[in-house]
Amino acid sequence: MHIRLTGADMLDKVVAAGFDLEHGLKRVPTGIEGEAVVTAEQVAELKVLGVEILRDDAGFAWSNEADGGLGAASARAVQPSNHEATVRIARADWFTTKGQGFLYVEARTTDGQQADPIVGMQLENDSGKGTSFGFARTMSRFVDSGQYMFHRNLFKLDARPNQIRVTSSTGGVTTGYVSNWLEDAAPPLTADPSYKSDFVDGYRHPQQLYSRAEEIARQYPDIAEIIDLPNQTNGYQRKAQATIGGTGQSAVVVSSAAWGHEGGNDITVEFVDRPGANLPLAVEVAGKAVRVLLAKDASGALASTAAQVAAALKTQSQGLIDRAHPYRTNAGTGVVAPTSGPVALTDFLDQKRAGAPEGEVPRGPATIPVLRIGKHRDGKKPGVLIQAQDHAREWVPATTSLEAAERLVHNYRTDRETKDIVDNTDVFFILSNNPDGANYSFYNFASQRRNMTNHCPDANADPGRRNSWGVDLNRNYRVGSGHDGYAGASTSCVSDTFQGPEELSEPESQNIIWLVEKYSNIKFMMSVHSNGGQLFWQPGAYIADGRITTPRPPLGDEAFYWQSAARILSQVKAHRETVVTPENVGGSSDVLYSSAGNVREDLYHTYGIYAFGWEVGGSVYNPATGNWQGGSFQPDWVGNPDLVSGHAETMEYANGIMEMFRVAADWGRDNQNPTSELVPGTGQYSGPVDVRFETNEPATIYYTTDGSRPTLESPRYAATEFREPGQVFHVTETTTFRWFSVDSAGNIEKNYDPTKSDKRDNYRTATITIANR
Ligand SMILES: [Zn+2]
Repeated sequence: MHIRLTGADMLDKVVAAGFDLEHGLKRVPTGIEGEAVVTAEQVAELKVLGVEILRDDAGFAWSNEADGGLGAASARAVQPSNHEATVRIARADWFTTKGQGFLYVEARTTDGQQADPIVGMQLENDSGKGTSFGFARTMSRFVDSGQYMFHRNLFKLDARPNQIRVTSSTGGVTTGYVSNWLEDAAPPLTADPSYKSDFVDGYRHPQQLYSRAEEIARQYPDIAEIIDLPNQTNGYQRKAQATIGGTGQSAVVVSSAAWGHEGGNDITVEFVDRPGANLPLAVEVAGKAVRVLLAKDASGALASTAAQVAAALKTQSQGLIDRAHPYRTNAGTGVVAPTSGPVALTDFLDQKRAGAPEGEVPRGPATIPVLRIGKHRDGKKPGVLIQAQDHAREWVPATTSLEAAERLVHNYRTDRETKDIVDNTDVFFILSNNPDGANYSFYNFASQRRNMTNHCPDANADPGRRNSWGVDLNRNYRVGSGHDGYAGASTSCVSDTFQGPEELSEPESQNIIWLVEKYSNIKFMMSVHSNGGQLFWQPGAYIADGRITTPRPPLGDEAFYWQSAARILSQVKAHRETVVTPENVGGSSDVLYSSAGNVREDLYHTYGIYAFGWEVGGSVYNPATGNWQGGSFQPDWVGNPDLVSGHAETMEYANGIMEMFRVAADWGRDNQNPTSELVPGTGQYSGPVDVRFETNEPATIYYTTDGSRPTLESPRYAATEFREPGQVFHVTETTTFRWFSVDSAGNIEKNYDPTKSDKRDNYRTATITIANR
């Protein structure tokens, strides 16, 4: 179903109630829209929670309202004025896709939080250099968790504007220049006819992914190896179960002590009615056959309750049954009925879904291999961790990552750019980080998101709940976690965002921490998910009350993330013009929602790793309908090659992964110190002056204005507000700025050493002298 929620607060409630709607969500002006995988009965529950059901098809489209369009002039009369900069433009981006131009604008008003009346914002654009402003239209106010964020819209336009003008209903006005979002014609690596690509020809289950990874390591031993992660998964395995004896108060939930494939599936349980009266409850065991002889009262009526039978099974089944209890929240006060014969327990893992890859699926714990590719795997080259399929049902991330690995090894000897990557990076591929869940998704339940670990107490431990167990591996980490009070993870063991009983409770997340601690050269990470067409970094979580995010990356890191994102996404676009739009890029909690305990927050804040999160697939512009087309977790492999297609998504996003390797290689080679300027700089000024810092590359500036030498503890030059450029200092009296800049690779301007004072002390200085009048 296509649904709309009013905002993140409602999203948290709906997800906590166990609904499955974590991916493919989009912020829209009226809230959050997306797809929910629900039954008819759940639709009614969603409506009770206040969710609006829009359509039941799988497509996603911006509403025409959001589209704006030419001539949709606002009814609001606004008198532009220049008296105060109460309006700021954060972004004004132009891009084209499939022959259509788009203008994306984000702007803020300092009155944005005001609710009575709500402050309106109006956007105008010119039609190119030297033309006049026009085409006024209303912008959409984006509020999240009670906090005004900014106004923003994506508008279709035929001609690229040179400038825009934004006016608020409280009198602020500002103009700004339009930038290009992504390169229009980034030369794809794949354009070289000798370059080899298109290796993956269908979806792969984890065994296939892992065996191919091992084969690659055998075929290319000079540049590839396998590292087995130390913690085995909890296993593609289940206890054998049945719910028997009746319904409600009379039902008994029975679970085998042994895993299904280790003997649990051979157990039968029979509830037996014997002739006679005044008979006690008893249990007989012969081999794997358990017979419960039900009690009779004085009148010869059946008299064993579900609670009594459960207790007897636990203690008298000779260890075959170790978990037996009443059904859900019932106390088990009902008298159980005899069965018509022995009931076979089952682990329910014997199904195979149509369309799933062929192959044997071994039961039991799995060892996850890491495919490490690099010519110099000595810890001296920048490491890049590509981690795919934390979420089981996301099949395209696994094929995308495998395609990137294949391109590295196949082109190493023939392609100069590939050789440069392999010679100068150290890449770690985890092609599926959730093999148990992925097998369950392939063979049992397509929509499985989490791993297979059942942490549920009795009330949710019956087999009817088996598709709702497991831990959301991307909510199981330690920074900004649900355990710390951050929003967007659930404490409910049947929620699709279940955070686990404690931080790092799951072997799959423990493995990631092990890997980045053992291989401390890992400086880049991509957590590959689907679907939605989004690229994220920090902050990715907030405490809902007050909307307090995890710490924002300093301006230098933020700029480096944006620069890297533009490179990566330009290569994605080069394949078939898919554009990941700027409204879907940035701190994930700034543009979408809070996800407590995600892996990116932990790796960035604990280890200083540039940690991206990617939602590949979906969200492509369909010129035939004029709308953006959403994707799915398991699109047809061939599908519509121009729109939703597992194959096309694999190829275009593999381009982006290759570019991420080049970003890492460039980062590793970066030994150039950054330079920076105060603008305007040293000089005599007749009155107050506005100054700001500029850097020649993404870099963070530490500065003082109190005469002290700048250190790493000094104030950091910050953005005016998030997603905006650096702040402006309004200097009203003579001030000396002392500062230095540090780039993303750690190079420091002029080789200044901020940790100790020496004779040179060659930090930068500039004195703004304000003349006394
Ligand atoms: Zn995911």
